[in-house]
Amino acid sequence: MALKELKPGEILEDIEKRYPGEEERIQRAFEFISEKHRDQKRLSGEPYVIHPLSVARILADLSMDATTVVGGLLHDVLEDTETTYEELEALFGKDVADIVEGVTKIGKIRFRNLREAQAENFRKLILATAKDIRVVIVKLADRLHNMRTLGHHRREKRIRIAEETLEVYAPIAHRLGIWEIKRSLEDLSFKYLYPKEYEKVRSFVNQSLGDLEDYLRKFVIPRVKEELQRAGISAEISYRPKHLYSIWQKTIRKNIDLEEVHDLLGVRIVVESVQDCYVVLGIIHSVFKPVPGKFKDYISLPKSNLYQSLHTTVVAHKGRMVEFQIRTREMHLRAEKGIAAHWAYKEGKGSADGEEIFAWLRNLVENIQGSRNPSEVLDSLKRELFSEEVFVFTPHGDLLVLPRGATPVDFAYYIHTEIGNHCAGAKVNGRLVPLNYRLRSGDQVEIITSPHKRPSPDWLKFVVTSKAKTRIKQYLKQIEKERFLSDGRRIFERIRENLGLPQEELLEKLRARLKFRSEEELILALGSGRLSPSKLIALLSSKKRSRNEKLRSEGGGEVSIDGLSGIMFELGRCCNPVPGDEIYGVVTRGKGMILHESNCLNLRYIMENFPEKVLRAKWKPQGRFKTRIRVTARDRIGILSEIAKSIAEGGSNIWESVTKTTGDGVAVMDFTIDVSGREHLDDLIRTIESVEGVERCSRLYS
Ligand code: MN
Repeated sequence: MALKELKPGEILEDIEKRYPGEEERIQRAFEFISEKHRDQKRLSGEPYVIHPLSVARILADLSMDATTVVGGLLHDVLEDTETTYEELEALFGKDVADIVEGVTKIGKIRFRNLREAQAENFRKLILATAKDIRVVIVKLADRLHNMRTLGHHRREKRIRIAEETLEVYAPIAHRLGIWEIKRSLEDLSFKYLYPKEYEKVRSFVNQSLGDLEDYLRKFVIPRVKEELQRAGISAEISYRPKHLYSIWQKTIRKNIDLEEVHDLLGVRIVVESVQDCYVVLGIIHSVFKPVPGKFKDYISLPKSNLYQSLHTTVVAHKGRMVEFQIRTREMHLRAEKGIAAHWAYKEGKGSADGEEIFAWLRNLVENIQGSRNPSEVLDSLKRELFSEEVFVFTPHGDLLVLPRGATPVDFAYYIHTEIGNHCAGAKVNGRLVPLNYRLRSGDQVEIITSPHKRPSPDWLKFVVTSKAKTRIKQYLKQIEKERFLSDGRRIFERIRENLGLPQEELLEKLRARLKFRSEEELILALGSGRLSPSKLIALLSSKKRSRNEKLRSEGGGEVSIDGLSGIMFELGRCCNPVPGDEIYGVVTRGKGMILHESNCLNLRYIMENFPEKVLRAKWKPQGRFKTRIRVTARDRIGILSEIAKSIAEGGSNIWESVTKTTGDGVAVMDFTIDVSGREHLDDLIRTIESVEGVERCSRLYS
């Protein structure tokens, strides 16, 4: 390469003369890097500054703006010298500092794994990491110069870098349409990766080229020129050899020999207007015989990187095939420089951001008439340039693609459900971050798990992947089920005990009666509230219901809530409240307020599940009130009458009594009695408990 022989000052001069008015800034950047890289040398033994200078010159060749060129000069100072971002910003402005920082960031991405699928992700990662597309272009220029000087590295390293270039960087150059760079990157990689094949193709091209050029100069070009002149079309005609890698690829793709590749040299015709392109095509087809199936209209149907041209292959003198590419000047500029052409158009207008380029691309695509589906072309380009995805690494260096906004929890579930379910914390690039941290492209993510950690409902507020959402919900549902089961069992046991019912087969009988598929489902229904305890209680005590109807309290009075009086109410039949009890009112539909005693099981249930229905009520009672008590005693002759006597002496009437005797000599006696209030009832209970043989006397709830 001629570049090698140039001295730094000469390269600098060559760059500066192309940026009138920007010489001072470029000069300053050069002096800055000369100082910063002072002690560094390239492997070739050259002064280090040759590298950034060469990178800057490649950028100047692409007609990039001065900001990008300055960024190219400075691109290695953050990575290789003591320079800070702030220093760059202060000296060269934010745009330049951002470009250098972006290039440094991309440089830190490690390509450990170049399987095809991963390579595609790496390409996307690079495009996504760079907010400013100029960063990618500087990186491509950097890579191009490194490839040109790759010979100084050890073989192993050469292979690795060449592979990476071919898999990652050349396709990016292709995607951005920067043909000049793509071609050089591919040929240089080809040389290092497949030296024998490279040599074969190169010598074949060298041998055939002279002959081909002669042929074109003698028979083809004069004939075309003549016809174009006659038609009054001004055109630039040139020819250019196909690049070596693409020739080799063609022999592989079509399974042909090198001798069968007919388009080693393509003839390129650049004209003023789109209309002229088609006129020229017509002329060529009238002069030479077109080869069927070889005509391609990339003007109507641009390639996905927005490449436009007419291609045709014809049979010329002596039956030789010649390929023509016909395009406008603008198409030509874009075909060579791709997205970089944007800066060439808007010289001196300051910097361009992603938004602007995007608008430019949109215009471009919308102007393409008859395009198959411009929005599709645009969407795929936009997706890659301004990605909806983030690209992150596992601690092992594997690359994962997650939707934008993904968090460490999404990452954890992506790896494995169990890791998600036990995700206790996360480190990003070695630092602890909150679980709702939004991952960014290039982040390396490590999940900290703990066997005790469980998914939290809060996670649903920030996860974005459907896998994470589904798994968290699944887990929470399972937990809820377990809670419902244990609640259901507890409620069931309390009802059973309070009604004094035996355990055996009760659940199975209920299941059959209520038509549940399993006992577990019944318990679940009870625990979740789908089956109300009162319904169960009603069912279990249905035989007593008619009796309970008769036992309704004759007492009444007035109820007020927050000073509001005259409220319709009933006394709960489950707990039979008496004056002096701590009273709560439950709002019902149609029956007004039901008053419950604070220990009532139904009340507890309602409080837990429908707290909004429960109100603290004030009750001004009137009259006497029936309530129920249960006495447990050692069964002996005469005990029932002694208890009855103590009740009567305590000033109460027995309205009903039921006595059951269990096998082991214990009697359970339930009484319905009337009292004037809580104090009266407590007195009675104490009196009854003092009767010999009585073990316990308590209020009875049902
Ligand atoms: Mn570099």
